Amino acid sequence: MIDLRSDTVTKPSDKMRAAMAAAEVGDDVFGDDPTVNLLQERACEVFEKEAALWVPTGCMGNEIAVKVHTKPGQEIVTEDRGHILNYELGAAAVISGVTIRAVKSADGSGHLTWSEIEPALKIDPPYFQAATALVCLENTHNFAGGSVMTAAACAEICERSLAVGLPVHMDGARIFNASVALGETVADLTRHCDSVMFTLSKGLGAPAGSILLGSKDFIAESCIWRKRLGGGMRQIGILAAAGLIALDEGPERLEEDHANARALAEGLTNINGVSIDVEKVVTNIVIFDISGTGKTSAEIVEALRANGILAIGFGNLIRMVTHLDISAGDIATTIAALRNIL
Ligand SMILES: *Cc1c(COP(=O)(O)O)cnc(C)c1O
Repeated sequence: MIDLRSDTVTKPSDKMRAAMAAAEVGDDVFGDDPTVNLLQERACEVFEKEAALWVPTGCMGNEIAVKVHTKPGQEIVTEDRGHILNYELGAAAVISGVTIRAVKSADGSGHLTWSEIEPALKIDPPYFQAATALVCLENTHNFAGGSVMTAAACAEICERSLAVGLPVHMDGARIFNASVALGETVADLTRHCDSVMFTLSKGLGAPAGSILLGSKDFIAESCIWRKRLGGGMRQIGILAAAGLIALDEGPERLEEDHANARALAEGLTNINGVSIDVEKVVTNIVIFDISGTGKTSAEIVEALRANGILAIGFGNLIRMVTHLDISAGDIATTIAALRNIL
């Protein structure tokens, strides 16, 4: 199967499996696991943040951040198609008791500017309105097609947020893809964010795990919430060993995924009824519109599956994500199959 559903489908390499088998471990709830401690230290160095916490999933990292930054009855701001709003099953409402104010990005990039965020804020509101407590950003933006936010754009939002007393959380599940595409370090891309989550288990190739970063106080409080949510795990050095390889060696090969995504997008432009803006494909996510094909996305996804290719369809859109188990040959096969189907 050529599995383009997500970059979460990557399988750990032989090198990762060997490192996992040999990992030194301890009970991480007691802080005794040397390998996860090393991974957390490495993450702090790479992101130039004070403290880091391993979390089992990106969703848990995001939701802990929302919890620690807010009080029940407050409000957070996300972009309209943001992951925290749309793909975390209402967790911000369930766990943190906050409402979410969704703001559309006028240029369709998924990245908000301060002039778009500011009107949505309620700073010192009258008693009958929920006060804004947090601004959430997402880089790369998943459902806007892996679009990137520059360090300067992020810094401006953080600076303005700080001026009105609001913390900023970065959902950086794929921040390394942004880093490679922009030629800016992940430290620069998240420099002024109060908290950052990134995943080890997507394009970086680890089987599981994400990291939450922030100040010492923020991470101390996050550790309590991780335990409360059932995410205090024991000998996670086995997973952290894979995470260390993902962090050290994963980023340098993301360029290849981006080239494959670009080749896929270019191939799609020549297929009848498919519409895609190739210029917008800058990382590893390719989302294209099939409304001109006379078929539904479900029909196309099913026909692809019959050809050994997996993708995700939603509405008039199909999403394909490149990753380390996808080769240039797989992209050519996918384009040829789609041309046949359509
Ligand atoms: C995948 C993803 C997450 C959640 O990560 P999981 O490890 O799947 O829970 C959060 N935010 C974004 C933008 C993502 O793409």
